[in-house]
Amino acid sequence: MAKKQFKAESKRVLDLMINSIYTHKEIFLREIISNASDAIDKLCYLSLTDENVPYKRDDYMIKIFVDEDMRTITVRDNGIGMDEADMEKNLGVIAQSGSLKFKSENEDLDANDTNIIGQFGVGFYSAFMVADEVTVRSHKYGAETGAKWVSTGTDGYTITPCPEKTDVGTEVIMHIKEDTDGENYSTFLDKYTIRDLVRKYSDYIRWPIAMDIEDYEFVESEELDENGKPKYEYKCEMKETVMNTMVPIWERSKSEVTDEECKEYYQKMFYDPNEPISVIRVDAEGSVTYKAMLFIPSVPSPDFYSRDFKPGLKLYSNGVMIMEYCADILPDCFRFVRGIVDSPDLSLNISREVLQHDRQLKVISNNLTKKVKGELKKLMESDRKKYEEFYKAFGYQLKYSTVSAVADMREQVRDLLLFQTGPDRMCSLQEYVDNMPESQEKIYYVCADNLKLAMAMPQTEVVKQKGYEVFYLTDPVDEFVFQALDAQDGKPFQNVSKGDLDLVSEEEKQETEQAAEEGKDLLDFIKETLGDQVVDVRLSTTLVSHPVCLNSQGTVTLEMERYFRSIPGDDGSIRAARVLEINPRHPLYAKLQEAFATDKDRCADMARVLYAQASLIAGMPLDDPAEYTELVCNLL
Ligand code: ADP
Repeated sequence: MAKKQFKAESKRVLDLMINSIYTHKEIFLREIISNASDAIDKLCYLSLTDENVPYKRDDYMIKIFVDEDMRTITVRDNGIGMDEADMEKNLGVIAQSGSLKFKSENEDLDANDTNIIGQFGVGFYSAFMVADEVTVRSHKYGAETGAKWVSTGTDGYTITPCPEKTDVGTEVIMHIKEDTDGENYSTFLDKYTIRDLVRKYSDYIRWPIAMDIEDYEFVESEELDENGKPKYEYKCEMKETVMNTMVPIWERSKSEVTDEECKEYYQKMFYDPNEPISVIRVDAEGSVTYKAMLFIPSVPSPDFYSRDFKPGLKLYSNGVMIMEYCADILPDCFRFVRGIVDSPDLSLNISREVLQHDRQLKVISNNLTKKVKGELKKLMESDRKKYEEFYKAFGYQLKYSTVSAVADMREQVRDLLLFQTGPDRMCSLQEYVDNMPESQEKIYYVCADNLKLAMAMPQTEVVKQKGYEVFYLTDPVDEFVFQALDAQDGKPFQNVSKGDLDLVSEEEKQETEQAAEEGKDLLDFIKETLGDQVVDVRLSTTLVSHPVCLNSQGTVTLEMERYFRSIPGDDGSIRAARVLEINPRHPLYAKLQEAFATDKDRCADMARVLYAQASLIAGMPLDDPAEYTELVCNLL
């Protein structure tokens, strides 16, 4: 039988496994057991609707055999099994498991990149960390005959029929490598090591994981001691022993399971090396009975912000997994939440379509959504530092969902948003409102590329002078969020670089109006000079120490223009209508007036320079930077 070659990317991962210097090689067992457990889940699920499945619920078992002389460890399951085609598809290419696929596509793996092994687990191939030959013998449920897959590593694999494998299920036989100077592989041929590894990594697997282990008992012997009493002796018997506790962690009562255990469970179950920021446990009885254990991660998985990420909770009914990623329980804004839901009320034979209309699931969904929101709100109020860390990781997801979402979701998220109002202050919308002086009627915000630019925006000066806070929005999505949310607690949002801020006294207003009337010819002249770069030139009521600023008029703001500009392929057709505002109280205005009276060319040059400066401080690029530098040189 000719050897087949692994697909290129599989070969790379395989290389990584074989040459791995990863110190926790022991995780191979967890991976192989986890595959066995998945396979049993699948057959068990099938048996709900197919009475020909040969096993009953209590028959399912994962059994481990260790043969020291042959140097083999065998993991046998009575799960769904694989036929030749499945072996080709599943074992010939690297697992499609999202994270690793993402990793291997985007980065060159090298033998030292051990992080991904720990982080994601790498499934079946991890066997090659400890084995120099792996044989898989399997009989798929419903197939006529068995199949065998053998590989000694990167040189390829063979698949052949295996009529000897008659019972449904799979066995993975790993031939353990010889010891080397640095590596004691033989330790995996010790049954007690294996038992400890099962307890350490696979305790919560819901199917029994058994091994024949010597059982020593202290028993009475037939011999008598000098006092005529029976002597005691050790009796050794081989006993099939179940090594894992099997009770899923979420089924154990809250008082019985420590926070540490929950966190550890999360890290193992969801392959996250980081501790979750929160664990939410729900044990509900009433109209719908269910148990849930949800985790809020502290760090997004590497694929979280990519299309490969699969959101959703694991759905169980009476201990049988019915869906691995059920995305219909939590709304999209909470798609980062991981966890499980187990409810005997859910119909087992459920499809995605049915699920969406399932009444019970709706109840669960509403409750859990409330819980997640409540948990985050609590964290925000009780441990701000931790919340801000969480927000750094997932704030973008929250903000994004207010823009894309239906109104209902928007309201879920509103209270959880934070924006900066200073270098060291992140503030929620409600906190901002609570902090408003009585005279303040609007919520002010300004958008810029970064905090420094935002804080330096001339338009913010008058607001700050009043003692009002300003939201400095630096994420491109922020302005869309503010538009989507519209107002907070009846207080409308006001972009300081748009429209009249209405912050000055009647008297000041009149003064500016009068100045505008007197300076009408000058303003018209500037507008004419700047041509279609601006739609208007006005005197400002709000500028304090700055000579000019750039505002916008109409729906498209400068920030939106900047956002669209940043999208690759943008043709520049979305442009904000610009208004140049000039500060009549600034000495430069007097200079402009003077030039207008004596030297129109110089006045025009000054207008162009001031317009360019207003653009720069607003974070907008100059249409003609060369012209600008030349103008500045001339004026100097
Ligand atoms: P993953 O489990 O992340 O999908 P693996 O590399 O561990 O990736 O396994 C690849 C695939 O091989 C599995 O998805 C499954 O279809 C199949 N497989 C592995 N072990 C077994 C088994 N014991 N029984 C049935 N199928 C298996």
